[in-house]
Amino acid sequence: MESFESERAPLPRNMIENSMFEEEPDVVDLAKESPSYPIDSDDVVYEPRSSRLLVRGLGENDMDEDEEDYESSARLLGMSFMNRSSNQRSAASSYTRQQPSGSCSMPSAKKTVVGILVLIVVASVAMVIYFLPRCTFSKDGCHKANSSMEHLYPVASNGELFPWRDIRLPTSVRPVQYELSLFPNLTTMTFQGNVTITLVVLQESKKIVLHSSDMKILKANFQGKEVPILEYKPWQQIAIKFSEEIKKGQEYVLNIVYTANLSNSYDGFYNSSYSDTAGVRRVLAATQFEPLAARKAFPCFDEPAFKASFLIKIKREAEYISLSNMPKAKTTPLPGGLFEDEFEKSVNMSTYLVAFIVANFVSANANVSNTLVSVYAVPDKKDQVHYALEAATKLLHFYNTFFEIEYPLRKLDLVGIPDFLAGAMENWGLITFRETTLLVGNHSSPIDKQLVTSVIAHELAHQWFGNLVTMRWWNDLWLNEGFATYMQYMSIEKVFPELDIDNEFLSVRFRAMAKDSLNSSHPVSSKVTTPEEVEEMFDSVSYEKGASILLMLNATLSEEAFRKGVIEYLTNYRGGNTENEDLWSSLSQVSKQSINVSQMMNTWTVQKGFPLVTVNRAGKQVKLTQEHFLLNAENATDHSHLWHIPLTYVNDTCSTSSGCKQVFLFKNKTATLEVPDSVKWLKFNYKSDGFYIVDYGMEGWMNLTEALKTNVNVLPHEDRASLINNLFSLSRLGKVSFRQVLNLFEYLKNETETAPLTEALAQLNHIFRLLDKRSELLLVSRMTKYILDHFRDLMDSQSWEEETSVSKQVLRSALLETACRLNRPNCTTQAKSVYDEWIASKKTKHIPGDLLRVVLSVAAQTEVGWKELFDTYKHSIYDSEKRKTLEALASTQDVRKIVWILNAGLEGSEIQTPELPLVISTVCKHYAGYLYAWDFVKENWDKLTQKFPIGSFPLQAIIMATTSQFSTKAHLDEVERFFGSLKDRGSQMRSIQEAIETIKLNMRWMDRNLATLQTWL
Ligand SMILES: [Zn+2]
Repeated sequence: MESFESERAPLPRNMIENSMFEEEPDVVDLAKESPSYPIDSDDVVYEPRSSRLLVRGLGENDMDEDEEDYESSARLLGMSFMNRSSNQRSAASSYTRQQPSGSCSMPSAKKTVVGILVLIVVASVAMVIYFLPRCTFSKDGCHKANSSMEHLYPVASNGELFPWRDIRLPTSVRPVQYELSLFPNLTTMTFQGNVTITLVVLQESKKIVLHSSDMKILKANFQGKEVPILEYKPWQQIAIKFSEEIKKGQEYVLNIVYTANLSNSYDGFYNSSYSDTAGVRRVLAATQFEPLAARKAFPCFDEPAFKASFLIKIKREAEYISLSNMPKAKTTPLPGGLFEDEFEKSVNMSTYLVAFIVANFVSANANVSNTLVSVYAVPDKKDQVHYALEAATKLLHFYNTFFEIEYPLRKLDLVGIPDFLAGAMENWGLITFRETTLLVGNHSSPIDKQLVTSVIAHELAHQWFGNLVTMRWWNDLWLNEGFATYMQYMSIEKVFPELDIDNEFLSVRFRAMAKDSLNSSHPVSSKVTTPEEVEEMFDSVSYEKGASILLMLNATLSEEAFRKGVIEYLTNYRGGNTENEDLWSSLSQVSKQSINVSQMMNTWTVQKGFPLVTVNRAGKQVKLTQEHFLLNAENATDHSHLWHIPLTYVNDTCSTSSGCKQVFLFKNKTATLEVPDSVKWLKFNYKSDGFYIVDYGMEGWMNLTEALKTNVNVLPHEDRASLINNLFSLSRLGKVSFRQVLNLFEYLKNETETAPLTEALAQLNHIFRLLDKRSELLLVSRMTKYILDHFRDLMDSQSWEEETSVSKQVLRSALLETACRLNRPNCTTQAKSVYDEWIASKKTKHIPGDLLRVVLSVAAQTEVGWKELFDTYKHSIYDSEKRKTLEALASTQDVRKIVWILNAGLEGSEIQTPELPLVISTVCKHYAGYLYAWDFVKENWDKLTQKFPIGSFPLQAIIMATTSQFSTKAHLDEVERFFGSLKDRGSQMRSIQEAIETIKLNMRWMDRNLATLQTWL
């Protein structure tokens, strides 16, 4: 890490300002204003104003501005700075004390006199200071003994000093239990809260510090006595100061009464609304706390390691139900027609997993072992909950068996929330979902079911990974997310083999590598401190790379050993918090092999990126080299990266079954393998289970291409897809020519499998879009012809009828969406006729779900079609249909409609705001809208960051969608200028670095390949 920047970042603004501009100027001014040696007395008013002058003395005023800042900040952080500083000083003074050239002449009489006077003054002052108490010259006079520390603390909102100076909470006290009583008012959209926290003291202390945000505290009692609360808003912390220490080992009780608004954003305790089929506006209140928003609903110790139990009570009106993590214990009628629901005491858990909902939902349920599983939805959608219920029960049963630890709660609710920003949230016992990721209606295709099943599998896995065992801090978020993502693919492959999830996981690994090949990427386990950094951890690296490296480890250790290690980990740390190392040590214990799991996996989690393995074969000898696969090595600081790669390979004599696989742990920079002379070709990274890219060299690639041209089945389809992916990646890196890529494509005419075909299509579409956005019209038309030449037969042979195989649906929709976008008449005519029949049947005739987007997108290009579809969007109660309709609406080429739909998504009443990232990315796919979308983002930045927190995944997606297709210097400058101007409104986001790097790479790719494309397309 560039530690200086990041170490400074946690300092609150007012702390830096107070200290640097109020306390420090005495020194700073003197240093800056003092002329360099020799001194001319006319320029100096010599007045020592701080004891620090004595330390620094004359001739040391050459400290530059940066160093000044560093020292001030370092002092604030309580760092010992003097050693480093004095080293620098002695080096610097030997330079500054040299006579300037031309000053060898005798000093003038005036200068000599001045010099003597100065020396006398300095000597007298030094003596006076020596004999006086040190504090005489300090600005504030003598302080109490601890006064020098006081200015290090920030100032609370009432002007008093806040007793804590770190963004992380002190560990001197720990919450044991929260009793939380809430009364949300869904008319005024406010709520009242009362929280009683039982605390245990771990170290004697004179303060308690916890989190609280956006609420009005009415009263606080400590041990039954009212106490004042100090608040430091920038860190969302509150504190209570005591005159005497609270005692180690004792329990204390803190009670806080407060009110707050139900949030208008998508986190905290927020209000949500929707229109029912009768057109009536319905409201509800729900929570989303991960990562840092529990503090918006109740004062709490809002860090994952502060686990406690929760006793929750909710007052509600008769027309609503309330739900929370635990089963309901009792309901009490209250005066005024109100009811109070009280929930059982929870298991020990982190605050980000607490949840409650007040709404008018209905449900269906089923039992799995000792657990009642229920799926809740708004009443209009009660018929759409059954698929989720079936999937959840099967998966819960699977996990209970797989982990050999029963899900510990007696109930598990899955709730579809209208107006929900995340995909889903794993709150213990009360999982919340977007409706699209939970509800399955008549219009849903097997691909939609695959999505719903995946999300349920992911969230259920979290009940063990995340809820039962939790990462200690957000730096190891991947322990939650990487594992849940890995488990979602693994469990679906076992429980729902018909969903063909392996193709999806393969493309996820390709996507993760594309992100991780940028210099702006980060290690899986990264240091995080600020709220923005915490938000940024929710990205492809934590989820997708995390899952990919676990797959690689599973393939290395064997499935059963891996499962045993996981069980060991969950059993050992049940109810606790963990770090990377805890997982590795559990897996090491069960590994029978000689592999040091911890050593191997640390190379994948603590350094960013992944390796490129280069293969050089000369007869029997196969020489291997590894290096960091970094697309843009311009600013790379470290070239010494090495990974412990569990390298696998097959050869032409045995290449299609797992029994052919040979394994070799490749730890060093180079290694040599021996193969028989008779071996014609080698394919590394069997089934692409490993997180690395392989370059076979000119001859190696030629041999593999020839083998595939002769018989595509010499390799499994995952290997064929990975060859396409790797070769494209290498061409992006500049290691192979684009001609070689096109050469490999010649084999595609015989390809029929989904994974290699969709990978090839995705790569070609990417290039097509870059050329399109550059208005390289001639090349665009040649690229169109190239794609059609290679895929025409497949495109034309697709049926437009119902199809049950997920894999075939994925391929068909990819082919037809490309065909219709390239205006292939066979496709557009067919799409129009399917649409017309649908309209003629008053939208009752079924369109296969995987074809819905392509059919509707063709229809949305006419005025009439667009209006019909907008009407469909407004009234549909089927969320997958609704979402595809929205994508069709956003694919319009009519600029007025593009402008309207972007604004409507931001405004939120006609198009739901959580769908805005989807609207923006769809608009950006097409030439007509992508520049408008960029202008829209620039103009509405502040509004966007109110809806989507800085650093959050939706904002990351918006930045990448609007900028990743730029490939000119002018656009690069504009993007840099705009994001640079944001300052603390988001300019530090990693996705901005990613955007800038991507544009530079696009520019480079264009420079290198435009000429080649003109020759070869
Ligand atoms: Zn997750």
